[in-house]
Amino acid sequence: SLSGKTAVVTGSNSGIGLGVARELARAGADVVLNSFSDREEDHALAAELAKEFGTLVRYIQADMSDGEQCRALIEKAGTCDILVNNAGIQHVSPIDQFPSGKWDAIIAINMSSAFHTTAAALPVMRAAGWGRVVNIASAHGLTASPYKSAYVAAKHGVVGLTKVTALETAQEPITANAICPGYVLTPLVEAQIPDTMKEYDMSREDVIKNVMLQRQPSKEFATVEQLGGTVQFLCSDAAAQITGTTISVDGGWTAL
Ligand code: NAD
Repeated sequence: SLSGKTAVVTGSNSGIGLGVARELARAGADVVLNSFSDREEDHALAAELAKEFGTLVRYIQADMSDGEQCRALIEKAGTCDILVNNAGIQHVSPIDQFPSGKWDAIIAINMSSAFHTTAAALPVMRAAGWGRVVNIASAHGLTASPYKSAYVAAKHGVVGLTKVTALETAQEPITANAICPGYVLTPLVEAQIPDTMKEYDMSREDVIKNVMLQRQPSKEFATVEQLGGTVQFLCSDAAAQITGTTISVDGGWTAL
């Protein structure tokens, strides 16, 4: 059980982050939900999880594109035994047309945020004598696709950062690993469908089957519950010697 542990999950009012937060709360952890927005429904979501799982669940607003706010998130959480760096965005465009602003935002949110939160969280974990850093990378942290330059670069960067974090904590009761999901049907993926339909002149069904799941041999999306379960495993005693590595949850994508 993760009872007595506090998990901070960045970008967790939707998709994988929310799925991970739910599984950690189910396992007994107190959870900090986060996103850049500060709406009533964000705080209501935290209250809902608290009620469902009987743990302390808070929502803390912080924009992961801003390093200071990343660090402030950990400070405001007060404690952080489990850090899940999950916030991420996507933009699909050929390199020569890729907007510089999108490049900068993706590098900041998908990669640099993990540096800042980890920098703030490690001293807290060291003081507590236990810690888990789990970075949600991607199959695109291990392999590439056209039109996703910033995303692929950021996710490869996250895998590299994960290895360094693991080496710097290797002799402490702290581990750092990256999870590399294949396609998961979340709002982020949903948003890519129209552009990809246009790019390849395909129907929605064809985009799902022949583009998205083309490289996912299982021909099934991974689920947010499966990703939450994988994070939970990395937080278990069985995973205490698993550090500095990646776990693919991709239906065989990276085996191709
Ligand atoms: P999503 O759009 O459903 O969720 C993204 C989350 O990040 C949301 O909670 C959003 O509010 C938050 N976010 C975005 N910008 C932010 C900012 N500036 N500050 C704070 N929070 C911010 O997407 P998702 O599919 O759940 O993606 C979650 C993570 O999983 C991302 O890092 C993504 O790259 C990764 N991933 C997703 C897939 C997939 O197929 N869905 C596959 C591999 C990796």
